[in-house]
Amino acid sequence: MLDLDTLRTAQAAVGVCAFALVYLGTYRPTRAPYAAWWSAAVVASGLGTAIYLVAGGFGRLSDALGNAVSVVGAALVWCAARSLHRGRITWWHLVPVPVVVLVWSLLDVRSDGVLSGTLALLLGMGLFLGLTAMDLVRVLKQRFLARSEDAFHSARAAVVSMVIASAATSGFYALRVVSYLVVGPSDPFYVTWTGPLATTLVILIMLVVVTYSVTELSHMEMSRQWREKATHDDLTGLLTRAAFHELAESALLEAATTHRALVMIAADFDHFKLLNDTYGHAEGDRALSAFGDACRGVLREQDLACRMGGEEFSILLVGAGVEDARAVCERLSQVFARGYADRPLHPPTVSWGVTVADPAKPLGSLMARADAALYRAKDAGRDRIELDPTST
Ligand code: GH3
Ligand code: MG
Ligand code: MG
Repeated sequence: MLDLDTLRTAQAAVGVCAFALVYLGTYRPTRAPYAAWWSAAVVASGLGTAIYLVAGGFGRLSDALGNAVSVVGAALVWCAARSLHRGRITWWHLVPVPVVVLVWSLLDVRSDGVLSGTLALLLGMGLFLGLTAMDLVRVLKQRFLARSEDAFHSARAAVVSMVIASAATSGFYALRVVSYLVVGPSDPFYVTWTGPLATTLVILIMLVVVTYSVTELSHMEMSRQWREKATHDDLTGLLTRAAFHELAESALLEAATTHRALVMIAADFDHFKLLNDTYGHAEGDRALSAFGDACRGVLREQDLACRMGGEEFSILLVGAGVEDARAVCERLSQVFARGYADRPLHPPTVSWGVTVADPAKPLGSLMARADAALYRAKDAGRDRIELDPTST
């Protein structure tokens, strides 16, 4: 049979490892809020246990303090779950219930050696762990159920494990409440099945499951950040040339079967070298970044925009015709200029070349036609939209 001291020692050791793993291995590199909340929860529950052990001699006061801090730990677990679906977290999520537990425990005068405020502790823990399970189900529905990408598989399994662990632990606390009320804390049933030994074991399992899951979620987050970095240009936030090529090729393939219209736009800032030479490279960078913002503001989710290099851009409009493309170029110029409204500088004007895609032809020829139209816009005096003659 397991003995309580061994289990508590194991729990303390696992708690220290969990904190090191989550705080140093997950929170420091990702700054993910859920990792911060979970680290705080591990610290609070460790502190709660330490208060029971170290200050146990002080009776009701230390019992009350230990209970309140343990319940704060469970509330922090709930906050970690809420932060996963970006739920609001305010002081009332953390403060009122532990205060009630504290006061209840202080008023619970006992002579039977049972922890003061046990019922308050059990209700508080059960409540927060139940709320945690509910919020995690929401996380699953919002962020994971509809996603089939490989990167989501293990993260989804991690959230499912957390749902099961928190629901089971909350159920365990509910069982403790019932057995406390029905048979009492001195009954052999309560001591054997819902006493400190079983509780330590359940918390140990929860600690391991949540720590594994939080680490798994952070892997997903880090690989998402790396993917984002590899496929997006730092300055403008638009796609890189390689990522654009890959996505545009797939859009062309899809258009060959769905017959969805595609339009390719080539864009180039006018006299950008002059802007750099006159106002400095940093001002040029600001213009490039503002153009990226304009693209994000104007284009729809299915459209693709990339920085080809320098101050040259390619945009693929999906499900759009020449007139839509013309309107998009005009709108982009307007929004780009609006980004300069509070600055003394004029934004660079932009020349545009537009061509309709023929899905039977390769991407290279489509881009070459858009470029040829762009050169004609430059030759004709810049700051204008030129159509590829085969598109009319
Ligand atoms: P045109 O109207 O014919 O397009 O003239 P232009 O000056 O815009 O074109 P040109 O190709 O002569 O010059 C492009 C300039 O873009 C030259 C280079 O200094 C600048 N450039 C390229 N990449 C960057 C960048 O990342 N940041 C900044 N600030 N400037 C860049
Ligand atoms: Mg230029
Ligand atoms: Mg250029």
